[in-house]
Amino acid sequence: MDIVEMITNKRNGLALTTDEIEWIVSSYVSGAVPDYQISALLMAVYFQGMNRDELLALTRAMVYSGETIDLSDIPGIKVDKHSTGGVGDKVSLALAPLVAAAGVPVPMMSGRGLGHTGGTLDKLESIPGFQTQLSEAAFKNQIGKIGFAMLGQTEKICPADRKIYALRDVTATVPSIPLICSSIISKKKAEGTDALVLDVKVGKGAFFPDKKQTLKLARFLVRLGNDFDLNTVALLTAMDQPLGHAVGNWLETVEAIEVLQGGGPPDLIEVTETLGGVMIYLGEKADSVFSGIEQIRALIRSGEGFRKFLDMVEMQGGDLSVVQAPDSYPKSTFEVAVKSNRSGAIQDIDARKIGRLSINLGAGRLKKEDEIDYRAGLIFHRKIGDPVQKGDVVAVLYTEKEDFLEEAERSFLDAIAFSDKEIRKPETIERYLTAEEEMPFHKFLKD
Ligand code: URA
Repeated sequence: MDIVEMITNKRNGLALTTDEIEWIVSSYVSGAVPDYQISALLMAVYFQGMNRDELLALTRAMVYSGETIDLSDIPGIKVDKHSTGGVGDKVSLALAPLVAAAGVPVPMMSGRGLGHTGGTLDKLESIPGFQTQLSEAAFKNQIGKIGFAMLGQTEKICPADRKIYALRDVTATVPSIPLICSSIISKKKAEGTDALVLDVKVGKGAFFPDKKQTLKLARFLVRLGNDFDLNTVALLTAMDQPLGHAVGNWLETVEAIEVLQGGGPPDLIEVTETLGGVMIYLGEKADSVFSGIEQIRALIRSGEGFRKFLDMVEMQGGDLSVVQAPDSYPKSTFEVAVKSNRSGAIQDIDARKIGRLSINLGAGRLKKEDEIDYRAGLIFHRKIGDPVQKGDVVAVLYTEKEDFLEEAERSFLDAIAFSDKEIRKPETIERYLTAEEEMPFHKFLKD
Protein backbone atom coordinates (compact mmCIF):
# COMPACT_ATOMS: atom_id res chain seq x y z
CA MET A 1 0.00 0.00 0.00
CA ASP A 2 1.21 3.48 -0.86
CA ILE A 3 0.32 6.04 1.82
CA VAL A 4 1.47 9.02 -0.28
CA GLU A 5 -0.91 7.93 -3.05
CA MET A 6 -3.76 7.63 -0.51
CA ILE A 7 -3.09 11.12 0.88
CA THR A 8 -2.98 12.49 -2.68
CA ASN A 9 -6.27 10.82 -3.61
CA LYS A 10 -8.04 12.05 -0.47
CA ARG A 11 -6.65 15.54 -0.97
CA ASN A 12 -8.06 15.49 -4.51
CA GLY A 13 -11.51 14.44 -3.31
CA LEU A 14 -11.40 10.74 -4.20
CA ALA A 15 -12.70 8.11 -1.78
CA LEU A 16 -10.47 5.66 0.10
CA THR A 17 -11.32 1.96 -0.15
CA THR A 18 -12.19 -0.18 2.88
CA ASP A 19 -8.89 -2.07 2.52
CA GLU A 20 -6.96 1.19 2.44
CA ILE A 21 -8.72 2.50 5.56
CA GLU A 22 -8.11 -0.74 7.47
CA TRP A 23 -4.47 -0.67 6.45
CA ILE A 24 -4.06 3.00 7.48
CA VAL A 25 -5.61 2.47 10.94
CA SER A 26 -3.65 -0.70 11.75
CA SER A 27 -0.38 0.72 10.40
CA TYR A 28 -0.79 3.89 12.46
CA VAL A 29 -1.53 1.96 15.66
CA SER A 30 1.52 -0.29 15.07
CA GLY A 31 3.75 2.69 14.38
CA ALA A 32 4.48 1.71 10.77
CA VAL A 33 3.06 4.99 9.46
CA PRO A 34 4.35 8.18 11.11
CA ASP A 35 2.37 11.05 12.66
CA TYR A 36 3.23 13.49 9.84
CA GLN A 37 1.57 11.38 7.15
CA ILE A 38 -1.54 10.74 9.24
CA SER A 39 -1.66 14.48 10.02
CA ALA A 40 -1.71 15.24 6.29
CA LEU A 41 -4.41 12.64 5.74
CA LEU A 42 -6.53 14.02 8.61
CA MET A 43 -6.30 17.49 7.11
CA ALA A 44 -7.37 16.09 3.72
CA VAL A 45 -10.36 14.42 5.44
CA TYR A 46 -11.10 17.69 7.24
CA PHE A 47 -11.45 19.47 3.88
CA GLN A 48 -12.87 16.67 1.70
CA GLY A 49 -15.06 14.78 4.20
CA MET A 50 -15.84 11.08 3.82
CA ASN A 51 -18.62 9.19 2.08
CA ARG A 52 -20.80 6.72 3.94
CA ASP A 53 -18.72 3.64 3.06
CA GLU A 54 -15.54 5.35 4.19
CA LEU A 55 -17.16 6.41 7.47
CA LEU A 56 -18.41 2.88 8.18
CA ALA A 57 -15.00 1.40 7.33
CA LEU A 58 -13.14 3.92 9.51
CA THR A 59 -15.45 3.38 12.49
CA ARG A 60 -15.21 -0.41 12.18
CA ALA A 61 -11.41 -0.29 11.89
CA MET A 62 -11.26 1.87 15.04
CA VAL A 63 -13.56 -0.44 17.05
CA TYR A 64 -11.40 -3.45 16.18
CA SER A 65 -8.07 -1.65 16.64
CA GLY A 66 -8.24 -2.92 20.23
CA GLU A 67 -10.34 -5.10 22.51
CA THR A 68 -14.10 -4.91 22.84
CA ILE A 69 -15.97 -5.48 26.10
CA ASP A 70 -18.80 -7.99 26.19
CA LEU A 71 -21.43 -7.01 28.76
CA SER A 72 -24.02 -9.53 27.57
CA ASP A 73 -23.81 -11.50 30.82
CA ILE A 74 -25.13 -8.48 32.74
CA PRO A 75 -28.94 -8.56 32.54
CA GLY A 76 -30.84 -5.60 31.09
CA ILE A 77 -30.35 -3.13 28.26
CA LYS A 78 -27.14 -1.22 28.90
CA VAL A 79 -27.44 2.50 28.13
CA ASP A 80 -24.67 5.11 28.05
CA LYS A 81 -24.61 8.84 27.38
CA HIS A 82 -22.00 10.93 25.61
CA SER A 83 -21.70 14.68 25.40
CA THR A 84 -19.83 16.35 22.56
CA GLY A 85 -18.21 18.58 25.16
CA GLY A 86 -19.11 21.74 26.98
CA VAL A 87 -18.25 24.21 29.70
CA GLY A 88 -19.76 23.52 33.12
CA ASP A 89 -21.14 20.22 31.83
CA LYS A 90 -21.25 18.05 34.96
CA VAL A 91 -24.42 16.22 33.90
CA SER A 92 -22.86 12.72 33.84
CA LEU A 93 -22.04 12.82 37.56
CA ALA A 94 -25.69 13.07 38.56
CA LEU A 95 -27.16 11.28 35.56
CA ALA A 96 -25.39 7.90 35.75
CA PRO A 97 -26.39 7.14 39.39
CA LEU A 98 -29.97 8.30 38.79
CA VAL A 99 -30.43 6.10 35.71
CA ALA A 100 -28.80 3.14 37.49
CA ALA A 101 -31.18 3.72 40.42
CA ALA A 102 -34.05 3.30 37.93
CA GLY A 103 -32.72 -0.19 37.12
CA VAL A 104 -30.95 0.57 33.82
CA PRO A 105 -27.28 -0.56 33.78
CA VAL A 106 -24.92 2.28 32.80
CA PRO A 107 -21.41 1.45 31.52
CA MET A 108 -19.96 4.96 31.38
CA MET A 109 -16.52 5.57 29.87
CA SER A 110 -15.56 9.24 29.95
CA GLY A 111 -12.74 11.52 28.90
CA ARG A 112 -10.58 14.32 30.22
CA GLY A 113 -10.80 18.03 29.50
CA LEU A 114 -10.16 18.94 25.86
CA GLY A 115 -9.54 22.41 24.48
CA HIS A 116 -11.81 24.85 26.30
CA THR A 117 -14.13 22.09 27.59
CA GLY A 118 -13.95 20.17 30.87
CA GLY A 119 -13.89 16.40 31.25
CA THR A 120 -15.87 14.07 33.52
CA LEU A 121 -12.75 12.13 34.58
CA ASP A 122 -11.07 15.26 35.96
CA LYS A 123 -14.24 16.10 37.90
CA LEU A 124 -14.44 12.61 39.42
CA GLU A 125 -10.75 12.71 40.32
CA SER A 126 -11.34 15.90 42.33
CA ILE A 127 -12.78 13.48 44.93
CA PRO A 128 -9.68 12.41 46.91
CA GLY A 129 -8.77 8.77 46.25
CA PHE A 130 -11.32 8.24 43.43
CA GLN A 131 -10.01 5.69 40.90
CA THR A 132 -11.01 6.14 37.26
CA GLN A 133 -8.73 3.40 35.89
CA LEU A 134 -10.60 0.13 36.42
CA SER A 135 -9.77 -3.26 34.95
CA GLU A 136 -12.39 -4.81 32.70
CA ALA A 137 -13.20 -7.33 35.46
CA ALA A 138 -13.68 -4.57 38.06
CA PHE A 139 -15.82 -2.56 35.58
CA LYS A 140 -18.13 -5.54 34.98
CA ASN A 141 -18.21 -6.51 38.64
CA GLN A 142 -19.26 -2.99 39.66
CA ILE A 143 -22.02 -2.76 37.04
CA GLY A 144 -23.29 -6.15 38.24
CA LYS A 145 -23.27 -4.99 41.89
CA ILE A 146 -24.50 -1.38 41.85
CA GLY A 147 -25.72 -0.96 38.26
CA PHE A 148 -23.08 1.45 36.97
CA ALA A 149 -19.44 2.46 36.82
CA MET A 150 -17.70 5.64 35.63
CA LEU A 151 -14.21 5.21 34.31
CA GLY A 152 -11.62 6.30 31.79
CA GLN A 153 -10.97 4.61 28.50
CA THR A 154 -8.58 1.71 29.15
CA GLU A 155 -5.35 1.25 27.16
CA LYS A 156 -6.92 -1.63 25.28
CA ILE A 157 -10.13 0.06 24.10
CA CYS A 158 -9.92 1.81 20.71
CA PRO A 159 -6.15 2.53 20.73
CA ALA A 160 -6.61 3.99 17.23
CA ASP A 161 -8.96 6.65 18.60
CA ARG A 162 -6.58 7.57 21.40
CA LYS A 163 -3.69 8.07 18.95
CA ILE A 164 -5.74 9.80 16.27
CA TYR A 165 -7.52 12.06 18.76
CA ALA A 166 -4.23 13.22 20.30
CA LEU A 167 -2.98 14.08 16.80
CA ARG A 168 -6.23 15.88 15.86
CA ASP A 169 -5.98 17.96 19.02
CA VAL A 170 -2.66 19.45 17.86
CA THR A 171 -3.31 19.62 14.10
CA ALA A 172 -6.56 21.66 14.12
CA THR A 173 -8.55 18.69 12.79
CA VAL A 174 -10.96 18.11 15.71
CA PRO A 175 -14.07 19.77 14.18
CA SER A 176 -14.62 17.30 11.34
CA ILE A 177 -17.94 15.42 11.18
CA PRO A 178 -16.56 12.03 10.02
CA LEU A 179 -13.66 12.22 12.49
CA ILE A 180 -15.91 13.14 15.44
CA CYS A 181 -18.53 10.50 14.53
CA SER A 182 -16.04 7.65 14.11
CA SER A 183 -14.26 8.64 17.34
CA ILE A 184 -17.42 8.70 19.49
CA ILE A 185 -19.27 5.72 18.03
CA SER A 186 -16.19 3.42 17.94
CA LYS A 187 -15.58 3.96 21.68
CA LYS A 188 -19.22 3.40 22.59
CA LYS A 189 -19.41 0.24 20.48
CA ALA A 190 -16.20 -1.13 22.03
CA GLU A 191 -17.30 -0.48 25.65
CA GLY A 192 -20.28 -2.84 25.22
CA THR A 193 -23.31 -0.56 25.57
CA ASP A 194 -26.58 -1.46 23.79
CA ALA A 195 -28.07 2.03 23.53
CA LEU A 196 -26.76 5.55 23.55
CA VAL A 197 -28.03 9.04 24.28
CA LEU A 198 -25.99 11.82 22.73
CA ASP A 199 -25.94 15.30 24.20
CA VAL A 200 -24.91 17.31 21.14
CA LYS A 201 -23.97 20.81 22.24
CA VAL A 202 -25.11 23.69 20.10
CA GLY A 203 -24.00 27.33 20.35
CA LYS A 204 -20.89 29.44 20.73
CA GLY A 205 -19.18 27.09 23.21
CA ALA A 206 -19.73 23.97 21.04
CA PHE A 207 -17.40 22.35 18.47
CA PHE A 208 -19.25 23.98 15.61
CA PRO A 209 -20.45 27.49 16.39
CA ASP A 210 -22.69 27.07 13.31
CA LYS A 211 -26.10 25.51 14.04
CA LYS A 212 -26.49 23.85 10.63
CA GLN A 213 -23.22 21.97 11.04
CA THR A 214 -24.23 20.90 14.57
CA LEU A 215 -27.52 19.52 13.30
CA LYS A 216 -25.67 17.67 10.56
CA LEU A 217 -23.30 16.24 13.20
CA ALA A 218 -26.25 15.05 15.31
CA ARG A 219 -27.90 13.36 12.31
CA PHE A 220 -24.67 11.61 11.30
CA LEU A 221 -24.07 10.43 14.88
CA VAL A 222 -27.57 8.98 15.22
CA ARG A 223 -27.33 7.18 11.90
CA LEU A 224 -23.83 5.82 12.56
CA GLY A 225 -24.79 4.66 16.07
CA ASN A 226 -27.71 2.73 14.62
CA ASP A 227 -25.47 1.29 11.87
CA PHE A 228 -23.43 -0.24 14.70
CA ASP A 229 -26.56 -1.63 16.41
CA LEU A 230 -26.63 0.98 19.14
CA ASN A 231 -30.14 2.31 19.65
CA THR A 232 -29.13 5.97 19.44
CA VAL A 233 -31.04 9.16 20.29
CA ALA A 234 -29.59 12.68 20.23
CA LEU A 235 -30.65 15.86 21.98
CA LEU A 236 -29.38 19.25 20.90
CA THR A 237 -28.71 21.22 24.08
CA ALA A 238 -27.61 24.82 24.46
CA MET A 239 -23.94 25.66 24.95
CA ASP A 240 -23.97 29.42 24.38
CA GLN A 241 -23.33 29.99 28.07
CA PRO A 242 -21.85 27.49 30.56
CA LEU A 243 -24.29 24.92 31.94
CA GLY A 244 -25.31 25.55 35.56
CA HIS A 245 -23.47 27.96 37.82
CA ALA A 246 -20.18 26.16 38.53
CA VAL A 247 -17.15 25.78 36.23
CA GLY A 248 -14.12 23.90 37.59
CA ASN A 249 -13.71 20.34 38.77
CA TRP A 250 -14.59 20.22 42.47
CA LEU A 251 -17.03 23.13 42.17
CA GLU A 252 -18.88 21.19 39.46
CA THR A 253 -18.85 17.97 41.47
CA VAL A 254 -20.52 19.85 44.33
CA GLU A 255 -23.15 21.22 41.94
CA ALA A 256 -23.90 17.70 40.66
CA ILE A 257 -24.29 16.55 44.29
CA GLU A 258 -26.72 19.43 44.83
CA VAL A 259 -28.83 18.17 41.92
CA LEU A 260 -28.84 14.67 43.43
CA GLN A 261 -30.00 16.21 46.70
CA GLY A 262 -32.90 18.09 45.11
CA GLY A 263 -31.19 21.46 44.51
CA GLY A 264 -29.05 22.87 41.70
CA PRO A 265 -29.66 25.37 38.89
CA PRO A 266 -32.69 24.96 36.59
CA ASP A 267 -30.80 24.44 33.29
CA LEU A 268 -28.65 21.68 34.79
CA ILE A 269 -31.71 20.01 36.32
CA GLU A 270 -33.54 20.14 33.00
CA VAL A 271 -30.70 18.54 31.01
CA THR A 272 -30.16 15.86 33.68
CA GLU A 273 -33.85 14.96 33.93
CA THR A 274 -34.35 14.88 30.18
CA LEU A 275 -31.28 12.83 29.26
CA GLY A 276 -32.17 10.54 32.17
CA GLY A 277 -35.75 10.17 30.94
CA VAL A 278 -34.52 9.17 27.48
CA MET A 279 -32.00 6.69 28.93
CA ILE A 280 -34.64 5.02 31.12
CA TYR A 281 -36.96 4.81 28.11
CA LEU A 282 -34.23 3.26 25.93
CA GLY A 283 -33.45 0.85 28.78
CA GLU A 284 -37.14 -0.18 28.68
CA LYS A 285 -37.81 0.75 32.30
CA ALA A 286 -40.32 3.42 31.28
CA ASP A 287 -42.96 3.38 28.54
CA SER A 288 -42.29 6.98 27.49
CA VAL A 289 -39.58 9.59 27.87
CA PHE A 290 -41.94 11.63 29.99
CA SER A 291 -42.49 8.80 32.44
CA GLY A 292 -38.69 8.32 32.53
CA ILE A 293 -38.36 11.99 33.51
CA GLU A 294 -40.92 11.46 36.29
CA GLN A 295 -38.85 8.54 37.56
CA ILE A 296 -35.72 10.70 37.68
CA ARG A 297 -37.62 13.32 39.71
CA ALA A 298 -38.84 10.66 42.14
CA LEU A 299 -35.33 9.22 42.54
CA ILE A 300 -34.02 12.69 43.40
CA ARG A 301 -36.83 13.24 45.93
CA SER A 302 -36.28 9.88 47.61
CA GLY A 303 -32.49 10.34 47.78
CA GLU A 304 -31.94 7.03 45.95
CA GLY A 305 -29.87 8.67 43.21
CA PHE A 306 -27.55 10.23 45.80
CA ARG A 307 -27.22 6.88 47.61
CA LYS A 308 -26.14 5.28 44.31
CA PHE A 309 -23.58 8.04 43.84
CA LEU A 310 -22.18 7.27 47.31
CA ASP A 311 -22.04 3.55 46.41
CA MET A 312 -19.93 4.41 43.37
CA VAL A 313 -17.59 6.72 45.31
CA GLU A 314 -17.06 3.98 47.88
CA MET A 315 -16.48 1.19 45.32
CA GLN A 316 -14.04 3.35 43.33
CA GLY A 317 -11.99 4.27 46.41
CA GLY A 318 -13.15 7.91 46.84
CA ASP A 319 -13.35 9.78 50.14
CA LEU A 320 -16.99 9.57 51.24
CA SER A 321 -16.61 12.22 53.94
CA VAL A 322 -16.05 15.10 51.47
CA VAL A 323 -18.96 14.18 49.22
CA GLN A 324 -21.19 13.97 52.28
CA ALA A 325 -19.87 17.29 53.65
CA PRO A 326 -18.52 19.33 50.69
CA ASP A 327 -17.70 22.29 52.98
CA SER A 328 -14.89 20.22 54.52
CA TYR A 329 -12.97 20.32 51.16
CA PRO A 330 -9.88 22.60 51.17
CA LYS A 331 -10.65 26.13 50.00
CA SER A 332 -8.82 28.15 47.34
CA THR A 333 -6.37 30.73 48.69
CA PHE A 334 -7.81 33.52 46.52
CA GLU A 335 -11.46 34.34 45.91
CA VAL A 336 -12.36 37.28 43.68
CA ALA A 337 -15.94 38.54 43.64
CA VAL A 338 -16.46 40.18 40.23
CA LYS A 339 -19.02 42.98 40.43
CA SER A 340 -21.08 44.50 37.68
CA ASN A 341 -20.00 48.03 36.78
CA ARG A 342 -23.46 48.87 35.40
CA SER A 343 -27.16 48.06 35.78
CA GLY A 344 -29.19 46.14 33.21
CA ALA A 345 -29.45 42.46 32.33
CA ILE A 346 -26.95 39.80 31.32
CA GLN A 347 -27.20 39.45 27.56
CA ASP A 348 -24.40 37.01 26.82
CA ILE A 349 -21.81 34.81 28.53
CA ASP A 350 -19.22 33.48 26.09
CA ALA A 351 -18.81 29.83 27.11
CA ARG A 352 -15.59 29.43 25.13
CA LYS A 353 -13.92 32.39 26.87
CA ILE A 354 -15.15 31.19 30.27
CA GLY A 355 -13.74 27.72 29.54
CA ARG A 356 -10.33 29.27 28.74
CA LEU A 357 -10.50 31.45 31.86
CA SER A 358 -11.26 28.45 34.05
CA ILE A 359 -8.22 26.62 32.62
CA ASN A 360 -6.04 29.66 33.32
CA LEU A 361 -7.34 29.84 36.90
CA GLY A 362 -5.83 26.34 37.28
CA ALA A 363 -8.83 24.09 36.55
CA GLY A 364 -7.37 22.62 33.33
CA ARG A 365 -4.09 21.86 31.64
CA LEU A 366 -2.21 24.39 29.52
CA LYS A 367 0.38 21.71 28.75
CA LYS A 368 -0.16 17.93 28.78
CA GLU A 369 1.99 17.47 31.89
CA ASP A 370 0.33 20.26 33.96
CA GLU A 371 -1.30 19.33 37.26
CA ILE A 372 -4.90 20.38 37.76
CA ASP A 373 -5.92 22.50 40.73
CA TYR A 374 -9.22 20.80 41.53
CA ARG A 375 -10.49 23.73 43.66
CA ALA A 376 -9.98 26.32 40.90
CA GLY A 377 -12.77 27.73 38.74
CA LEU A 378 -15.71 30.07 39.10
CA ILE A 379 -19.28 30.25 40.29
CA PHE A 380 -21.81 32.40 38.48
CA HIS A 381 -24.28 34.37 40.56
CA ARG A 382 -26.04 35.64 37.43
CA LYS A 383 -26.76 33.98 34.07
CA ILE A 384 -28.20 35.15 30.74
CA GLY A 385 -31.53 36.92 31.26
CA ASP A 386 -30.89 37.77 34.94
CA PRO A 387 -31.24 41.45 35.92
CA VAL A 388 -28.21 43.13 37.56
CA GLN A 389 -27.70 46.28 39.57
CA LYS A 390 -24.40 48.14 39.50
CA GLY A 391 -22.21 46.58 42.24
CA ASP A 392 -23.95 43.17 42.20
CA VAL A 393 -21.64 40.17 42.29
CA VAL A 394 -21.87 38.43 38.90
CA ALA A 395 -19.43 35.62 39.72
CA VAL A 396 -16.73 34.54 42.18
CA LEU A 397 -13.39 33.29 40.82
CA TYR A 398 -11.27 30.75 42.75
CA THR A 399 -7.54 30.27 42.20
CA GLU A 400 -4.07 29.87 43.74
CA LYS A 401 -2.54 32.25 41.18
CA GLU A 402 -2.09 35.59 42.93
CA ASP A 403 -0.38 37.19 39.91
CA PHE A 404 -3.35 36.31 37.68
CA LEU A 405 -6.11 37.94 39.77
CA GLU A 406 -6.41 41.24 37.92
CA GLU A 407 -6.15 39.67 34.47
CA ALA A 408 -8.69 37.03 35.49
CA GLU A 409 -11.22 39.70 36.46
CA ARG A 410 -10.65 41.51 33.16
CA SER A 411 -10.99 38.26 31.16
CA PHE A 412 -14.21 37.46 32.98
CA LEU A 413 -15.77 40.84 32.18
CA ASP A 414 -14.59 40.50 28.58
CA ALA A 415 -16.68 37.31 28.30
CA ILE A 416 -19.88 38.99 29.55
CA ALA A 417 -22.21 41.31 27.64
CA PHE A 418 -24.77 43.48 29.41
CA SER A 419 -27.91 45.03 27.97
CA ASP A 420 -30.18 47.88 28.98
CA LYS A 421 -33.20 45.91 27.80
CA GLU A 422 -34.93 42.92 29.31
CA ILE A 423 -33.37 39.68 27.98
CA ARG A 424 -35.31 36.43 27.57
CA LYS A 425 -33.79 33.32 29.17
CA PRO A 426 -32.58 30.99 26.40
CA GLU A 427 -34.03 27.56 25.72
CA THR A 428 -31.94 24.74 27.24
CA ILE A 429 -33.00 21.79 25.07
CA GLU A 430 -33.59 22.54 21.42
CA ARG A 431 -34.18 19.38 19.46
CA TYR A 432 -34.86 15.64 19.71
CA LEU A 433 -33.54 13.25 17.04
CA THR A 434 -33.88 9.50 16.50
CA ALA A 435 -33.20 7.37 13.43
CA GLU A 436 -36.90 7.73 12.48
CA GLU A 437 -37.93 11.22 13.53
CA GLU A 438 -36.72 14.64 14.49
CA MET A 439 -38.50 17.61 16.05
CA PRO A 440 -38.12 20.67 18.28
CA PHE A 441 -37.96 19.46 21.87
CA HIS A 442 -40.97 21.43 23.13
CA LYS A 443 -43.08 19.73 20.43
CA PHE A 444 -41.72 16.31 21.35
CA LEU A 445 -42.75 16.78 25.00
CA LYS A 446 -46.24 18.01 23.99
CA ASP A 447 -46.83 15.00 21.73
N1 URA B 1 -15.58 13.44 21.66
C1 URA B 1 -14.88 12.37 21.21
O1 URA B 1 -14.81 11.35 21.89
N2 URA B 1 -14.31 12.44 20.00
C2 URA B 1 -14.37 13.52 19.22
O2 URA B 1 -13.83 13.51 18.13
C3 URA B 1 -15.07 14.62 19.69
C4 URA B 1 -15.68 14.56 20.92
